[in-house]
Amino acid sequence: MRSSRLTAAVVGSLLVVSGALVAAAQPAGAHGRDGLSLPARLLGRQALPARDGWAAAGPGTSGGAAATPDQVHVVRTRTELVHALGGDNATNRQNTTPKIIFVRGLVDGFEAADGRLLDCADLADPEYSLDAYLAAYDPASWGRVAPAGPLEQARVRSVANQTRQTQINVGSNTTIVGLRGATLSGLTLMVDTADNVIVRNLTLSDARDCFPAWSPTDGDAGNWNSQFDLMSVRRSENVWVDHNTFTDGDNPDSGLPVHFGRPYTVHDGSLDITHTASRVTASYNRFVARDKVMLIGSSNTVGPDVGRLDVTLHHNLFDGTMQRLPRVRFGRVEIYNNAYRLAGAEFGYAIGVGVQSAVYAEHNHFTLGTGITAADLLYDWSGTAITERGNWVREGRGPARLVSLLAAYNAEHEPDLGGDVGWTPTLRSGPVLPAPLVPLVVQALAGADRLPV
Ligand code: CA
Ligand code: CA
Repeated sequence: MRSSRLTAAVVGSLLVVSGALVAAAQPAGAHGRDGLSLPARLLGRQALPARDGWAAAGPGTSGGAAATPDQVHVVRTRTELVHALGGDNATNRQNTTPKIIFVRGLVDGFEAADGRLLDCADLADPEYSLDAYLAAYDPASWGRVAPAGPLEQARVRSVANQTRQTQINVGSNTTIVGLRGATLSGLTLMVDTADNVIVRNLTLSDARDCFPAWSPTDGDAGNWNSQFDLMSVRRSENVWVDHNTFTDGDNPDSGLPVHFGRPYTVHDGSLDITHTASRVTASYNRFVARDKVMLIGSSNTVGPDVGRLDVTLHHNLFDGTMQRLPRVRFGRVEIYNNAYRLAGAEFGYAIGVGVQSAVYAEHNHFTLGTGITAADLLYDWSGTAITERGNWVREGRGPARLVSLLAAYNAEHEPDLGGDVGWTPTLRSGPVLPAPLVPLVVQALAGADRLPV
């Protein structure tokens, strides 16, 4: 019984990547005039498999699969990327023409049209400087009230300058695929008011905010807040985010300076899904060490987000990340077969149970460093319940074992969370692996540069 179930699970994991295996079986060296291998071209045309999570709901997710030959692009620069997305970053989100965009090499969001790399000073408003900002809004003299006045206005203008430069807007019916080693650095992929989008096999690195805002009443001691995610999904449906690596590169949160006694945070989310977005599947991604990883729903307001924010997370690796893995409001969010490796004094929590959230978490595997226990994995952000089953936890040097995350949480916290969120996931394209197999499969298969291109 046990071995047949194991065999079925392993076969199932292969089926999950069967598209990749079919592509790999094609003859090597069959490159077209565009320099793309046959496996790459097949991958560019691939749609989300039927029933593969929430992004398979409704019309499903095919991205740019229907692109005509003139809408298949290979880009090496920010300028080429913007051109492939429609030509004008200010209006590209309205470009619904099916398009497949292959990224080759390093594309830097700070790259100017002439190829020069801009820095934060180039994007700053003439009236803004960090030194002036720190002098003006020090809580010791300014008080614990929000920054206001000409200097804050100059900061806001600076952010607008940066947004035009480093936020790359994506329209509907788009597939973006990284060729081997492809990296988007210092930029935000913004999927806003854009349905049917696929993003695969990319390393997204260090989307940094040049002009963080001081929020004196955020938390007990205030916080610096940044607004650039590596990828944002807003007001969009049917989005598939697959086999990507999200990282801060050589600019980790841990190396940031401290101002006003708080870390001068220049990063926001890795993959934030907010503002009524829904039907998103994030599969086989690797989220590397950083503070905030995934926010699903950004406001407690009971309004347009109700009935939205449905997201599936499967076979992702959360490696050394500290909080929001994910943090959920409103959505029906299924979290299965993900591997978590969590350690360090900065660790906050894994799954945030927020307002009207309905998280269904099963068959995930958590490896916890010293000082972190199963009771630390959930956090109650004004939620009421989470359904969880079949999750395994390894604490420190102890053995991995089946643990009820809910029972562990409730034993140490008040009020208790309930155990029934009132829905059961049905959109699964392959079998669910038993949790003990998950670290092996996810370690081998999650992240960029695992798909054959
Ligand atoms: Ca964000
Ligand atoms: Ca309790």
